[in-house]
Amino acid sequence: MALSPVTRRYRRYKMQRAASAAVAQALQRAPNILGMAKHRRIQVVARRIAACAASTTIKLLTPPGDASRIVYRNKRRCRVGLCMPCARVRAKEANQRIAVRLDAILAEAPQNRFIFLTVTSRNRSVAEVANMLADHERALNRFWRSNEIARAITGHVTGIEIALRGSNDAREAGVHSHTVAAVHPDYFDRKADLYLSQRRLVHLWRRALRADYNPICHVTAVPAGDNVRASLRECVKYAVAPHKLFERGNAKTVDPLVALYLADALYKRRLIRFGGVFATTRRYRAAKAMAAKPSNP
Ligand SMILES: [Zn+2]
Repeated sequence: MALSPVTRRYRRYKMQRAASAAVAQALQRAPNILGMAKHRRIQVVARRIAACAASTTIKLLTPPGDASRIVYRNKRRCRVGLCMPCARVRAKEANQRIAVRLDAILAEAPQNRFIFLTVTSRNRSVAEVANMLADHERALNRFWRSNEIARAITGHVTGIEIALRGSNDAREAGVHSHTVAAVHPDYFDRKADLYLSQRRLVHLWRRALRADYNPICHVTAVPAGDNVRASLRECVKYAVAPHKLFERGNAKTVDPLVALYLADALYKRRLIRFGGVFATTRRYRAAKAMAAKPSNP
């Protein structure tokens, strides 16, 4: 029997809360291997996530003769990146801010086109995940600053994600990011020479990543007239898919080491980035515009 959308959402919420509780438990059991300062910090994070999950109530109400709805209450949001319900709320808020920016961009330039870009790097052991995030961020900065990209793209929203892979004995992490980029008005005009083929993007991303292999990149144009919001929602979500946190073959527990490395990597890290026309503060956009303008004599 197919589940109704509200039932599916209800189950998803419950699964996310269970993931948070399991993460908190795993962190409390995590060994002290990153040094005392980080250990204490992680224990505080664990308590906050546990309190957040414990104070969250999720109910499915079906008033007689009315449609079912979910009553979701959380009085103590922990706002930790590894807390799934908090990550969901944060993504929702970010999406609302971005939607406002998108409306402003489209009000100014209704014909503005967008591309959807995914860039990845090779999997490494989950113990490396903090370094991988730092490498990915630095590579993205080099990528946006490179001439060819800066010429073709007028702004972007980028969400960085961690995919957990490998077996229970050898958990691996893959870091990748999804970007919605607004492109130059002449981007698709062959004469303008701004267009970036997938092959070209692989080359540019490889250079930015300083990799000795061709990393996987994927680019598609958001069709003209299509709703860009769906693509934006795709790049602004949680950093780690909640169901992937659980150990393989045991949908209740999280590996303490995996939780530890992830909590350390995500601690106070911002995984959603904005640039150019998508930058959310007016001051930043004004400064960018000033810098891009040729100076008047
Ligand atoms: Zn929380």
